[in-house]
Amino acid sequence: MKKFAYFCNSMKNSTDKPVILSASRTKDMVHRSPDLLADILLGRAPCRWGPRSPFGIVDPEQLHTLVLWTKDPRNLLQHHRLRSVLLDLHHTHHAQISLQITATGLGGSFIEPGIPNWQEVHAILSELLAEGWIDPAAAVYRFDPFIEMRTPGGRILSNASASLFKKLCDAFTSLGITRVTTSRADSAHYPRALERINSVGLEWLRISDNRAENLCRQMDEICRERGAEFSICCEPAIKSLMENWGCIDARLLNRTKGESYAPATEEPHNKIGRQRPACQCTYSRDIGYSTGSATCYSGGYGCLYCYSQGNAKLPDIDRIQNEISAFDHDPEGYLRSRDLPEELLGENK
Ligand code: SF4
Repeated sequence: MKKFAYFCNSMKNSTDKPVILSASRTKDMVHRSPDLLADILLGRAPCRWGPRSPFGIVDPEQLHTLVLWTKDPRNLLQHHRLRSVLLDLHHTHHAQISLQITATGLGGSFIEPGIPNWQEVHAILSELLAEGWIDPAAAVYRFDPFIEMRTPGGRILSNASASLFKKLCDAFTSLGITRVTTSRADSAHYPRALERINSVGLEWLRISDNRAENLCRQMDEICRERGAEFSICCEPAIKSLMENWGCIDARLLNRTKGESYAPATEEPHNKIGRQRPACQCTYSRDIGYSTGSATCYSGGYGCLYCYSQGNAKLPDIDRIQNEISAFDHDPEGYLRSRDLPEELLGENK
């Protein structure tokens, strides 16, 4: 009871408005911990939003929006418990369910070995949105990150491509999504991820500021042509393309939920909590720190560039090395055999 009372206080923010909960920027709880996520949302398991934050219990009446971050939304269709909890939150407690859905085009390649390919993510999302309880206008499509690698044989695998972006942007915006974001994966900030990548013989190529800016400006243009809004998530720091909104944007979520509901605070997160300095998000709480929330890296995603994994080893190094060799030997054949976009085959610049 003590914990519950404490949580009721801590769940409210300084402006005493309903809260936006996020699950979870670095854990993909939908894919990796669907039972725990259901238990937390039911108030049957404690949650926390920082390694040193207190434990608490979710009070659905305080919940404005639940933001689900995922690269594999299939549990939203197939996991019975999670689905029924989410549907109950939405229908009974009027919680808005929002998605941050990521598809980089690299899913299923040796860079993102455990992620479904983008066509699969798109097909699942299409079926899910057709059910009508998740508003695509409250969702963000993430082409995140863009990255480029050179193999030991000198081939380039890269999703830093405007034509690839256009293909995926077309597909995801056609589902009614009107916000799109990206970021450049930058090895300079993540030396351990760089070591991991080097350990399989890959070279993480830096995408120059000029090239990244050109690409982001093309992405912006592509989004405008489709009536969608584009914004960069922190990197590269191009002010004019990152100041309109952050990934979690209470102004949007208040609008999509509707005026008849009490609004969430629209204060920037960095005024209340702590995010990267360039972060434009409004205030929310990420429940990925809850006890038992396993990492998606160890659960099979194993993205080579994963920032959140420190010096964790690759889940299946032999498979990665075999795939790199297959790509070196016959890049077009490798991409075809995995139904990967041909645009991933980059040029040496
Ligand atoms: S393994 Fe790392 S990079 Fe891949 S989805 Fe999970 S947190 Fe993100």
